Amino acid sequence: MLSTQLKPLKKDLLTHFEELGDEHIGTSYDTPLRDDAFDLDDDVKIDQIAHHFKHIMDILGLDLTDDSLRGTPQRVAKMYVKEIFKGLNPANKPDMKLFDNKYQYNQMLVEKNITLYSNCEHHFVPIIGRAHVAYISNGKVIGLSKLNRIVQYYAQRPQVQERLTMQIANELKQALGTEDVAVVIDATHLCVSSRGIKDVQSSTVTAEYGGKFLDIDTRNEFLKHIG
Ligand SMILES: [Zn+2]
Repeated sequence: MLSTQLKPLKKDLLTHFEELGDEHIGTSYDTPLRDDAFDLDDDVKIDQIAHHFKHIMDILGLDLTDDSLRGTPQRVAKMYVKEIFKGLNPANKPDMKLFDNKYQYNQMLVEKNITLYSNCEHHFVPIIGRAHVAYISNGKVIGLSKLNRIVQYYAQRPQVQERLTMQIANELKQALGTEDVAVVIDATHLCVSSRGIKDVQSSTVTAEYGGKFLDIDTRNEFLKHIG
């Protein structure tokens, strides 16, 4: 039996869902967050999510007294807040320490095949892929692992791939003080491969080019590097 009653979905939410159907439409560049998004601290969020996730499992008819299932609501809640949706909170943004470009290396730097795990904001199932990022130094350089961390930070949110691509590119532009940034993401969406249309072959490619990467030769050089 359920310990508390869940409110039915509001009519406008249902109508919106019917209109949107299975389409993957992003509505804004910024992740849609409420102003009070971080009023609750992480521990309170974990408690509340665990409580509600237990409800979902209850409704599905799962026996929460089973040893294998008992800890699942808490595990899922902790995973949401501390891992896969950790990047919602600006407090978890990697600090972007820059260094002087002492070697005067003025060509493009490409970091390719960055492992990318995100989650589709329409279905809350994984997006798995690779990100390739590049920049041309404007006098400052950034630690290589920071490029991975920026990708990871924005990936650890409920996402749409187009927004994720732009958020990573804009962060790099801001941090490095240059428009000369490129980001390509090639990813598989489990909402497309494991359900719905069940296409396991397709992947989705998105790209954002700024500054010198708008030049066709520069862009082709980058694309050649990432193969
Ligand atoms: Zn989806």
